[in-house]
Amino acid sequence: MKIDVLSLFPDMFSGVFGQSILKKAQEKSAVKFQVIDFREYSTNKHRNVDDYPYGGGAGMVLTPQPLFDAVEQLTSQSEAKPRIILLCPQGERFSQSKAEELAEEEHLIFLCGHYEGYDERVREYLVTDEISIGDYVLTGGELGAMVVIDAVTRLLPGVLGKEESHLQDSFSTGLLEHPQYTRPADFRGMKVPDVLLSGNHKNIEDWRRKESLKRTYNRRPDLLENKALSKEDEKWLQEIKDNKTT
Ligand code: SAM
Repeated sequence: MKIDVLSLFPDMFSGVFGQSILKKAQEKSAVKFQVIDFREYSTNKHRNVDDYPYGGGAGMVLTPQPLFDAVEQLTSQSEAKPRIILLCPQGERFSQSKAEELAEEEHLIFLCGHYEGYDERVREYLVTDEISIGDYVLTGGELGAMVVIDAVTRLLPGVLGKEESHLQDSFSTGLLEHPQYTRPADFRGMKVPDVLLSGNHKNIEDWRRKESLKRTYNRRPDLLENKALSKEDEKWLQEIKDNKTT
């Protein structure tokens, strides 16, 4: 996958792209990142990228020209048709299913806004997706782009080893993940559940599934609303609801 990021603050990305899984993903050639300062595309003699809003009001608005030119150049060099993603508090709320959808693509281009936002024509005519990372307002789209890129990159084939597999992660299964424990089995009197030490794989699997259902029911019941459950899951969920499971 190729990921291009258009930002006025490209240095913000060096730490995130240069560490941990995202660094390894590039080393394994699963992904190639390119961060471009879109000010370089401004045809304005002062290299300005923003201007006052028509109709007045506080703050500055990003002008369309540098973003259109930058995206058009990146698109013309691309063999695949890229998804052009605008980070925006008014966009679709980011989710694991959106990360899975984007992980299928060959080329993503992220547009990071700043100031009061963008000229509306960027939204209307340039982008394919608008993504918000939550119901709050950030100073710029950079942190949002990092969140989305991290969530997408870890899904790419070969990026996570078997031990770090994402398949059991919260949301990947449609449920929150079950609790995890590691050594010691007894830490200051706080004990690991006996079943996990039993060596009985079937019992461990059942316990994990029940804990996953319980945790989802207690913390995020909305996730269960449209979830298709097996007969066994339904039975366990009823027990959880009846408070029969501890
Ligand atoms: N005036 C805009 C509004 O009310 O919708 C907010 C602009 S915000 C200060 C500047 C930029 O930060 C946005 O253009 C966007 O790129 C980014 N941003 C802010 N909050 C975000 C969020 N929740 N998710 C994704 N990007 C966000």
